[in-house]
Amino acid sequence: MDDQVQDADVHAGSASKQELKVEPIRKVGIVGAGQMGSGIAHVVALGGYDVVINDLDKERFDAAIERIGNKLSRQVSSGKISEDDREKTLARITFAETYEGLGDVDLVVEAATEDETVKRKIFVAICPFIKPDAIVATNTSSISITRLGATTDRPERFIGLHFMNPVPVMELVEMIRGIATDDATFARAKEFVETLGKTTAVSEDFPAFMVNRILLPMINEAVYTLYEGVGSVDAIDTAMRLGAHHPMGPLQLADFIGLDTCLSIMQVLYEGLADSKYRPCPLLVKYVEAGWLGRKTKRGFYDYRGETPMPTR
Ligand code: NAD
Repeated sequence: MDDQVQDADVHAGSASKQELKVEPIRKVGIVGAGQMGSGIAHVVALGGYDVVINDLDKERFDAAIERIGNKLSRQVSSGKISEDDREKTLARITFAETYEGLGDVDLVVEAATEDETVKRKIFVAICPFIKPDAIVATNTSSISITRLGATTDRPERFIGLHFMNPVPVMELVEMIRGIATDDATFARAKEFVETLGKTTAVSEDFPAFMVNRILLPMINEAVYTLYEGVGSVDAIDTAMRLGAHHPMGPLQLADFIGLDTCLSIMQVLYEGLADSKYRPCPLLVKYVEAGWLGRKTKRGFYDYRGETPMPTR
């Protein structure tokens, strides 16, 4: 595949690209150690790659390692991996306190908070530290790949790799090219994703791509259904679980995704497509303003502080 990638690079063509040595992906940097960053680190390290994670502080990295360790233990218990796989996977993941720690990676996956300002700052800051031929990918759920790529020194080696939550379980990675993404980058990224056992689906660079363009308006509508008093949290989720055979009710799913992330995606859809049908429900805004962000803060449409989740309405 390296030959293929190099060929593609040559065909893609500029002199500067031909001068770059295209190495196989061996080491992956991840920026953001939250739900998604830790999930991506889990599957990438289990896939045999070295992983280095950066986040705002070491505590967040420690929490991520604990989460990954627990999930790997469950995979050991269910016979999917061996104890040796678990140990080796954890040993492959290290912490980078500063962006200098990303200096030897072949691919960076940005999985920080779904906020364009945060992401832009990260891209501007990391580029001087990473290798010229390293690919920069974003796990954004909704923000324009072209716009984010334009903040880097390498829009042709910038791509959207949208992993799904929970990463170890979900089979799909949406791939999104920005306007400048070159063929070699797309081919290298696709091959990398496939080595993780994931299937890819290619989306054009439109707000929220495919999965969230369809999924989030449904979640937002469920919040409106609650807001307008059509049903309680429990009634709405039961209705969709048993009436539409969804594995999770939409409000349960919103808590799982994170209500801040859901709101950001709706705002990107609303602003990006300029259509009032995507306006975020005021109740979703209220929950986010309260800091009730779902499972990650132990309260959202359900309260997770007790033994069993209790609906908050
Ligand atoms: P999260 O809130 O769990 O984690 C975000 C992490 O980013 C936090 O640990 C935070 O400390 C870190 N962070 C913030 N600013 C940073 C900075 N400047 N440098 C380094 N780290 C920084 O969020 P998440 O659910 O993991 O989402 C992360 C990304 O993945 C978002 O773009 C989101 O849209 C996307 N995504 C989320 C889901 C989901 O279901 N939650 C699914 C697919 C994609």
